[in-house]
Amino acid sequence: MPAMEAALARRGAQEAPLLVANRTEMASLLERPLRAAILAAAENGAVQRAVARHGMRLGARRFVAGESDAEFIDVAKQVNAGGFAVACGILGEGVRNAGEANDAARRYCAMLDRFAAEHIDANVAFKLTHVGLDVDPELAYENAARIAETARSHGNTMRLDMEQSRYVDATLAVYRRLRERFDNVGFVLQSYLFRSADDLRAHLNLAPNVRFVKGAYLESPAIAYAAKSDVDANYLRLVETSLTNEGYTAIATHDPKIIAAVERIVEREHLPLRGRFEFQMLYGISAPLAKRLVERGYRVRLAVPFGDYWFPYLMRRLAERPANLAFFLKGALSRP
Ligand SMILES: Cc1cc2nc3c(=O)[nH]c(=O)nc-3n(C[C@H](O)[C@H](O)[C@H](O)COP(=O)(O)OP(=O)(O)OC[C@H]3O[C@@H](n4cnc5c(N)ncnc54)[C@H](O)[C@@H]3O)c2cc1C
Repeated sequence: MPAMEAALARRGAQEAPLLVANRTEMASLLERPLRAAILAAAENGAVQRAVARHGMRLGARRFVAGESDAEFIDVAKQVNAGGFAVACGILGEGVRNAGEANDAARRYCAMLDRFAAEHIDANVAFKLTHVGLDVDPELAYENAARIAETARSHGNTMRLDMEQSRYVDATLAVYRRLRERFDNVGFVLQSYLFRSADDLRAHLNLAPNVRFVKGAYLESPAIAYAAKSDVDANYLRLVETSLTNEGYTAIATHDPKIIAAVERIVEREHLPLRGRFEFQMLYGISAPLAKRLVERGYRVRLAVPFGDYWFPYLMRRLAERPANLAFFLKGALSRP
């Protein structure tokens, strides 16, 4: 059984893939039904099995470095050679027992050791549910602390990704506890959530290292902006607040308008091109834009995911941009 199928079977193929809300406003009339179709198809067991069996060969590799450590390390070295730093993400979320959670933490620590030994410019970013948040928040904290400790021993950093809104309080609580012991830890805020402006203000006294994203999950309009223009405007407000306060800002977006606006803020505030902030993008997306930013002298980090549980990650990338589905299907049709 291929690794991805085995991973789905282990988890009971339970996770409903997620549809992004933040691009709906600008979605064309054609995109809306496509997006809904991706969501429906992604929940279908037969589709899950077919994608798991053939997906990596057909196009998932555009977004995922591979399934093994060795494949990831090769890609990380290539990405470094292109002038980019790497954020390593081992694909896995919502683990169900302490053994799996501890194993995920151990793998992140081993990766950090390897980056140091092989002089790879990479840190790690992970989901707290991958290291045990659903099992026991204390376990997740302890695993995150182990990873932070290992990163610190190598002069490196780590970041807690942000998941669905039901995890925000727990994730921020773990971040604050970590921050009492470590200064090499960061977290993520999503501009589609109304609460993120308050969350940012509440953490400014910690000179935080924050990555800003628009948000990749389907959230209720009761707690999240539904219109893309609101998500984008909030994104810029958050980044501006972060850049004009102490701390480190990771601007994680492929949106050229936002990037141009950030460059104007950087110029206005006379910020050095390196040291106070970095741009971040996802491996396989908007590569020419990322390259232009490196050429202009900015620090740019690519989030490079790998591992056998890539199905939900792939579905999030497809739903963000239904045009990706055409790319994926083209791969399927052009092969015997
Ligand atoms: C480094 C990084 C880390 C992230 N971490 C998190 C996290 O912890 N939690 C979380 O909720 N979300 C995370 N995200 C995802 C994020 O929330 C968005 O869903 C995603 O980045 C798309 O939004 P955008 O900012 O690129 O803007 P959009 O307005 O969605 O896109 C702008 C342009 O980027 C390109 N683009 C965007 N997405 C795709 C795609 N899938 N395929 C091809 N082109 C695309 C298109 O040209 C599009 O027009 C992360 C994103 C990045 C870059």
